[in-house]
Amino acid sequence: MEDLVIASNNKGKIEDFKVIFPQYNVIGISEIIEGFDVEETGTTFEENAKLKSEAAAKALNKRVIADDSGLNVDALGGEPGVYSARYAGEGKNDDDNIEKVLNNLGDTDQRDAQFICIISMSAPDEETIQFKGVVEGEITRIKCGANGFGYDPIFYLKQKGKTMAQLSPEEKNQISHRKRAIEKLERYLKDE
Ligand code: IMP
Repeated sequence: MEDLVIASNNKGKIEDFKVIFPQYNVIGISEIIEGFDVEETGTTFEENAKLKSEAAAKALNKRVIADDSGLNVDALGGEPGVYSARYAGEGKNDDDNIEKVLNNLGDTDQRDAQFICIISMSAPDEETIQFKGVVEGEITRIKCGANGFGYDPIFYLKQKGKTMAQLSPEEKNQISHRKRAIEKLERYLKDE
């Protein structure tokens, strides 16, 4: 069985990849290199995903997959964007980040937003390939729901009539930005 290395220290993400790719021996990079970490100095999800997958492919001399994701809010000029994980500052948590988004938006009716995920695949001496997944939503005025993580409690899906945090993990995984990007990667790997 061929190895598929994921350049992420997020155990949840690695479990998702294992479910989606049973035909591969999915390995988290921390099982190979202890403390692997790449500074996310890019200004786009694409740049940061590429930094991670290329650094890992170079370190391991084999094919590696990485991802980068976050929330874009139209009325905030795309913020929090690549700063989604640390929008309220280093050491702050999901609630602090949510509060900052809600405060910055105020009571405007312009609340369109997207969750975005870029999956990046790099291999030694090969061009990096990327796949994008997007899910459209609206930012609520208060938090709703207790599932998920990050900005899920304020991300409202019109077609579901619920926030992302009101969906079960299975429901979220059917429509999420991450799932959509992974599906494109899956199709690409099947066609190889
Ligand atoms: P990461 O770089 O993919 O680990 O995610 C960056 C940040 O974007 C997370 O810390 C969350 O704040 C936000 N984010 C990414 N994906 C999701 C999601 O599915 N739900 C809620 N927030 C998310």
